[in-house]
Amino acid sequence: MKVPFLSFTPQNQAVRTDVLEAMARVFDSQWYVLGDAVRQFEAEYAAFSHTQECIGVANGLDALHLALKALDIKDGDEVIVPSNTYIATWLAISFVGGTPIPVEPVLDTYNLDPTLLEAAITPRTRAIMPVHLYGQACEMDAIMAIARKHNLYVIEDNAQSQGAAYNGRLTGSFGEVNATSFYPGKNLGALGDAGAITTNDAGLAKRVRTLRNYGSQQKYYNEVIGHNSRLDELQAAVLSVKLPKLLDWTRQRQEVAALYDQHLAGIAQLKLPATAAGATHVYHLYVVRTARRDELQQHLTAAGIGTLIHYPVPPHQQQAYASLGYQRGAFPLAEEIAATCLSLPMWPGMTENEVEVVSSAVRAFFQA
Ligand SMILES: *Cc1c(COP(=O)(O)O)cnc(C)c1O
Repeated sequence: MKVPFLSFTPQNQAVRTDVLEAMARVFDSQWYVLGDAVRQFEAEYAAFSHTQECIGVANGLDALHLALKALDIKDGDEVIVPSNTYIATWLAISFVGGTPIPVEPVLDTYNLDPTLLEAAITPRTRAIMPVHLYGQACEMDAIMAIARKHNLYVIEDNAQSQGAAYNGRLTGSFGEVNATSFYPGKNLGALGDAGAITTNDAGLAKRVRTLRNYGSQQKYYNEVIGHNSRLDELQAAVLSVKLPKLLDWTRQRQEVAALYDQHLAGIAQLKLPATAAGATHVYHLYVVRTARRDELQQHLTAAGIGTLIHYPVPPHQQQAYASLGYQRGAFPLAEEIAATCLSLPMWPGMTENEVEVVSSAVRAFFQA
């Protein structure tokens, strides 16, 4: 039996009729940008996130960029960022003229190591950007305490972790302004690009609303040099249909992860995901590690099982960041993760049988 890396089939079946009806309503409304559907989804996602405000934008990268811009982070500013994140977090800093200052993760959880933060802080540091990677909440109490002590902003990258929590508080509700993505494969996915910012600060929310819409609050009056980065009505309507299912889909992801944990336990050469005390994990990805990663991936591909690597090259080793001058070995944990990580198939509604097929193929590889 073939197992893809990701299937939308169970999710799509659960919402097909409602999504098509919602799309028809937008079509018939004759209003396609910044209307009732966006306002409604923003209110619903703010309520879901336990924040006062949500501002819909065009994608997750724009959400990160506008968050930094709203905080007036600019040329010469330093922003602390994980060494092992998706490049989007770094790019947003570069867009505003700032410098990404990488900090290494805890190797068990892949999330920012709070004990390394203070050594990275300089007089130019303005903010910390924790990324709740793979679906697990960062150790936010320690991160927030350090941010407060040094008077730094916190901007969460919550693209992979909608609905995760640290000590009972939801990710995307800790920082001054926080970004998320509704890219189709994310835990809450649109039918194209979409993203949002969450915040409890009304002033910052207003700045982001202005920045996303040409720097304008009143049509054709432009206060600042803004962007065109609006969540569109069609995507907002789709997201409003899917949001009420997210808790259920998260539980299904957690069940799939628990089955993997069970079926893959005890393989000496295979490191399974671990969750920090106080954190919850919503399993955007189920990531394992092994020194024999490339061989394992080839073995699974040959067996018809889809896998991906998140991510094969850490940002500091990307050609795009050659100008920062980092040599091989500059961030050994990020490099180690890039060389050894493998994401196994994971989606809400994946069956126990499918998990078993993947797990047996992994076992067979290590037993051979
Ligand atoms: C997906 C993702 C983004 C970017 O979101 P887009 O909507 O694709 O622009 C940013 N950060 C992380 C950690 C992501 O996984």
